[in-house]
Amino acid sequence: MGRTATGPKPAFAPGTALPELAWEACPGKGIDYPQLYLDHYGRMPDSWLVGHIVATRTGYAGDPSVRACGASGGVTTAVLLHLLQSGRIDAAIVARQGVPAPLEASPVIASTAEEILDAAQSVYIPVAMLDILSRLEPGKRYAITLVPEQAAALRRLQHSGHPQAQQIDYVLGPYTGTALYPAAIDSFVRAHGVAKDDPVTSLEWRAGEWPGYLEIKTQSGKVLRSKKVYYNFLIPFFVTRASLQSMDFANEFCDLSVGDAWSPAFEAQGGGHSVVVTRSAKMEALVEEMIAAGALVLEREDDLKATEMHGHMIDFKKRGGFIRNQWRRKIGLAAPDYGMAPATIPPSRKMAELVISTLFVIGSTAPARFVLRQIPESVIGPVFNKLRLSWKKASKPTKRKGLADFRMIVDEE
Ligand SMILES: Cc1cc2nc3c(=O)[nH]c(=O)nc-3n(C[C@H](O)[C@H](O)[C@H](O)COP(=O)(O)OP(=O)(O)OC[C@H]3O[C@@H](n4cnc5c(N)ncnc54)[C@H](O)[C@@H]3O)c2cc1C
Repeated sequence: MGRTATGPKPAFAPGTALPELAWEACPGKGIDYPQLYLDHYGRMPDSWLVGHIVATRTGYAGDPSVRACGASGGVTTAVLLHLLQSGRIDAAIVARQGVPAPLEASPVIASTAEEILDAAQSVYIPVAMLDILSRLEPGKRYAITLVPEQAAALRRLQHSGHPQAQQIDYVLGPYTGTALYPAAIDSFVRAHGVAKDDPVTSLEWRAGEWPGYLEIKTQSGKVLRSKKVYYNFLIPFFVTRASLQSMDFANEFCDLSVGDAWSPAFEAQGGGHSVVVTRSAKMEALVEEMIAAGALVLEREDDLKATEMHGHMIDFKKRGGFIRNQWRRKIGLAAPDYGMAPATIPPSRKMAELVISTLFVIGSTAPARFVLRQIPESVIGPVFNKLRLSWKKASKPTKRKGLADFRMIVDEE
């Protein structure tokens, strides 16, 4: 994978003969989700919104220090630590911001508890996680953290007999709304008046108390901080194409999917809360074992009710992703095909998509990004947050309409 301004991209030597499996597992082409549901779970999902579920829970890591270093409740880190310490895996493959340079992020093989803890938190730029497969040691067993399109690609590889992919015994991953192109950071530091000859020395996406803030330090000693809810203003300008094209929010091919448990009650309590979904019997048994030992503090939730915490993002992916891909194809642009389509999409939802997509198209242009750099974050952060909340409120009836009984129709071959 080569590093580019728009994230990691595969680079092939001229004349490379790719195996058919590379095409089948390519997220850019679009993985056949219905076929993968059958191959991996043996049936179509009970919920077309969030996939196969064994159990949904909310809570956090029992160890306060693990909880504090996590992006939400530290559940992912706690489970990885438990897998390593109980000898179920030799190492965990995790994402680390700052490797090989502060503004870059890479997969790393963590074979000690310290290395797993050092990789806690979310990385909101694309990370080529599966690039690591070629570096796995024969005979060793691994867990890995992946975003949805990577988890689906890994399962495709596993079910097609790819040897390194089969060394991965546990797949964990975040609910994934939007990721940003690395250029977002550059824009952010320039907007804060950081000179070009004052390089960034460290970056944390979710520093401090949940929900956390973006913290950037520079060589001259400058420390920039922006609350998570404020730096969301970068999204319309730098959202990745993969985020817009994916139709999977809840990371449906992980053994364990974890998101932020957004609710007024949890937000008032502070401290970091996750929504935690188990999707395999072996992960469910592990989570139960950890709850009994106090390593996880989790309570059962109703599967459908829990989706309300993320209704907007689920709609953004399931219906929005489909509409955006369809529109791209209509104007002759490439877009992934997942082999399924929403059974119905109300016209009002397509109108809402026109507003959203127009914003993204304008935001991604050089003039719009230039204007953005001229506005202090102290102004755009709160203003954007207000606009975002107003849009969320205004579009809620449209975006939630038909979501409760949402289903997909599988494409005929
Ligand atoms: C790009 C992105 C977008 C997200 N969008 C949403 C959203 O819209 N709504 C929501 O509820 N939650 C979202 N999340 C999930 C949320 O930020 C937390 O990651 C999740 O709640 C897990 O929290 P935790 O405390 O259990 O994780 P931690 O205990 O902090 O562990 C996280 C683990 O995931 C690994 N990891 C971090 N980033 C990546 C990455 N990019 N690729 C692969 N592995 C990674 C880390 O190395 C670490 O091991 C997103 C996460 C990402 C990475």
